[in-house]
Amino acid sequence: MVERSALKKRVRQSIPLREFTTFRLGGSAELFLEVETEAELAEAVAMARADGMPWFLLGGGSNLVVSDRGMPGLVIRNASRDPERLDPERGLLTISSGRKLGYLVEVAAGHGLTGFEPMTGIPGTVGGAIYGNAGAYGRTIADLLVGATLLEPSTGRIFEADPAFFEFAYRSSRLKRDPHVILNATFRTSPGDPAAIRAEMANIMAQRNAKHPPLGVGSAGSFFKNLPPAPGETRRRAAGEVLEKAGAKEMAVGGAKVFHKHANFIVNYGEATAADVRALAAQLKERVFGLFGIALEEEVLYIGI
Ligand SMILES: Cc1cc2nc3c(=O)[nH]c(=O)nc-3n(C[C@H](O)[C@H](O)[C@H](O)COP(=O)(O)OP(=O)(O)OC[C@H]3O[C@@H](n4cnc5c(N)ncnc54)[C@H](O)[C@@H]3O)c2cc1C
Repeated sequence: MVERSALKKRVRQSIPLREFTTFRLGGSAELFLEVETEAELAEAVAMARADGMPWFLLGGGSNLVVSDRGMPGLVIRNASRDPERLDPERGLLTISSGRKLGYLVEVAAGHGLTGFEPMTGIPGTVGGAIYGNAGAYGRTIADLLVGATLLEPSTGRIFEADPAFFEFAYRSSRLKRDPHVILNATFRTSPGDPAAIRAEMANIMAQRNAKHPPLGVGSAGSFFKNLPPAPGETRRRAAGEVLEKAGAKEMAVGGAKVFHKHANFIVNYGEATAADVRALAAQLKERVFGLFGIALEEEVLYIGI
């Protein structure tokens, strides 16, 4: 049982969101509350609704551009971490939505369970990954999910959803149109060879380290979505290739720059504002549309006022 009054006492004011987002830019949350359990998460949402306050659920902050003027209302940072539940008989693993995706990959590897390796190195939480159907190396979180416990904010109803509910698509789910809070998620597991799992994770991590910005350099991962497959092809075309052909790697606005190793990454070496990032993104879109007639679409989410 979570006491609302105790939760309220933990609400802090004017908290800079740059500290909680991987881009490390943007303004402050008017009010900020970090929750540590699934029950606290549900109660925090209920509390914001009861107070008629706008609220935003922050996961790992790894897919966001927070506006320079910040976020009105309450930002609920989801660090829920109830103990995970492994059911070896049925091959199911249930985990809190506030757990890091990397933790899920580690837990699976620790139990010799395969299938999660492609998610190695994707920052953020389990909840954020499901919201945007995160993925890499041809696999997405949707391929592993068997169900989730959701909170419908408008009614407070808590229910079990199956994968069909999410209407997963490329970097998208129904939750983008029909907001629900993911409290926890259950994944299908299959036994694998522990050494092979670890080797694959190390291999993927090495590939990611070679092309992604180093720790300490702000970014939100791939800025634009990859493009639909060319006629007769099955794989999406990398937005980075098109951007590179357009000369994106030379482009910058203020402190926001295109990363020299990967044209689909906008990076912040410390001085960028959200306005710089938005202006650079607009220039990139204009350039690519002008040269190739391709309309790039952001994978990152702009939030705030
Ligand atoms: C270096 C780097 C590499 C990356 N590589 C990849 C990659 O390979 N593949 C990929 O897909 N992405 C990648 N990303 C992007 C990012 O990591 C993913 O989009 C990630 O899944 C976002 O999760 P998050 O917890 O950080 O979500 P946040 O950025 O905090 O939030 C994103 C959205 O999810 C919603 N949300 C968060 N938690 C919940 C919840 N419990 N219930 C309902 N909604 C929720 C938020 O409200 C928000 O609308 C990368 C990012 C970086 C910085």
